[in-house]
Amino acid sequence: MRLNINDTFNKELPSDSKTENTRRQVFEATHSYVIPRVPSYPKLLHASIEMAEEVGLDKESVSSKAFIEVFSGSKIQPKTKPYAMAYAGHQFGNWAGQLGDGRAISLFEVEHHKNRWALQLKGAGETPYSRQGDGLAVLRSSIREYLCSEAMCHLGVPTTRALSLMLSGDDVLRDMLYDGNANYEKGAIVCRVAPTFIRFGNFELFAARKDYKNLKKLADYTIKYFYPQLGKSSKETYIKLFKEVANRTLDMIIHWQRVGFVHGVMNTDNMSILGLTIDYGPYGWLEGFDFGWTPNTTDRQNKRYRFGNQPNIGLWNLLQLANALYPLVEEGEPFETILNQYQTDFESKSLEMMRSKIGLQKEEDNDASLIADLEDCLLLWEIDMTIFFRLLSNHKKGNPQYGFEVIRKAFYDSTAIKDEVLDKWKGWFMSYDQRLQIEELIDQHRKANMNLVNPKYVLRNYMAQLAIDDANKGNYSLIDELFNLLKKPYDEQPENEKWFVKRPDWARHKVGCSMLSCSS
Ligand code: AMP
Ligand code: MG
Repeated sequence: MRLNINDTFNKELPSDSKTENTRRQVFEATHSYVIPRVPSYPKLLHASIEMAEEVGLDKESVSSKAFIEVFSGSKIQPKTKPYAMAYAGHQFGNWAGQLGDGRAISLFEVEHHKNRWALQLKGAGETPYSRQGDGLAVLRSSIREYLCSEAMCHLGVPTTRALSLMLSGDDVLRDMLYDGNANYEKGAIVCRVAPTFIRFGNFELFAARKDYKNLKKLADYTIKYFYPQLGKSSKETYIKLFKEVANRTLDMIIHWQRVGFVHGVMNTDNMSILGLTIDYGPYGWLEGFDFGWTPNTTDRQNKRYRFGNQPNIGLWNLLQLANALYPLVEEGEPFETILNQYQTDFESKSLEMMRSKIGLQKEEDNDASLIADLEDCLLLWEIDMTIFFRLLSNHKKGNPQYGFEVIRKAFYDSTAIKDEVLDKWKGWFMSYDQRLQIEELIDQHRKANMNLVNPKYVLRNYMAQLAIDDANKGNYSLIDELFNLLKKPYDEQPENEKWFVKRPDWARHKVGCSMLSCSS
């Protein structure tokens, strides 16, 4: 197995002077060297061939013994020094101090076709940052991260990716619902991939400790490798860096809103400096359209990370990043301007995204209120978000009276819909159809455009759970089926129509389907 390894993070940034793997506070370092734990009986369950090709591996290498050894953590590539990254963060709105990679170990970086990729194992054992945890990951959460990160990539959402999913052959003790009932589950290891795994929290760690020397080193490194277009480091460049991160974070969240993805734990340690969706934990997909929904049971009380609040939290997290970068600039105003701009941009980008979802190309003054009315309607009676937007593309201009029938299948319990709800929907279709009159595209072309932004297939919560239930019984074929299905989320796939259905009743309140804890 040949890889073009070219490490920079652990070579150019300061490492922890202590090398023993004990849990502790680590100062003046961006990372600590750690050797991954050797799993008892690693077994490859799935690999992403596209991702393998991106890092320069062919199909044959993926089925080699060396692949299993390296990406299970059993063997370390010559001349590489795996490490865990040091970071801090705000969790659920509160300062949490040092966190760090408690169960992620970066192996090395590769360069391929002028792209840089960091390869990281999740679930490969303890690190100095493991705190009370064991450094391991269970199969259920590993399947969820593996499938969802690749699915998000194919949806066009900025994300970290996944190369492989392996069983470790070791059992892991978890109290899934934090209710005192711990059980052994199968352990697993995902190799995930991104240009870098640097988070907002890496900057917050140094800023909180007033270690401005290393804060600057980290910012300079980030600019040098990931934002080289911003130019040589200076106060202006740090401001430009913040502006770029703000733009990318907003773009990412607008994509989440477009496809109905709820991250679930938008802590600042889970915010990528590249604006990538990172750390797939208790995330979920909107089934019934609901701004107030969060899949994360740990957040059930305050619903801080609910669907409709994600853009606000993005802003809140950016404010924390601004505070962390402030010592490099020593001027608050430029940061304030960018944060204010985020709010203006959110309004316009969100409107643009919603226009595209309902097939409007022109911009009209009343579009915002048409969309607000639609959102009001969507909240009146439980309706599947993905199916609704996909079916809406079948609307025939000039036939508002049939509008409701076009989307009927998206409703739960559609025969019981009350008349006043029906009337509201009929009213909305009248306005929508009237608005479509000034659009130039014919029905067929509008539909084609809408189908490029409204996915037909997403990783519904129960679908991931079915794959997990099967995998726990030793059957891994559904992982492959879903993986392939989600490679083409915008395509009609007649043979896969069975996945274009509303959540089945059994999944409504099942753990893992609508309720997820942080336990993983
Ligand atoms: P998360 O909520 O998964 O983003 O994790 C928050 C922090 O806890 C991070 O520093 C993780 O690395 C750490 N962590 C989560 N699970 C474990 C585990 N099983 N063992 C060690 N550290 C963990
Ligand atoms: Mg995390």
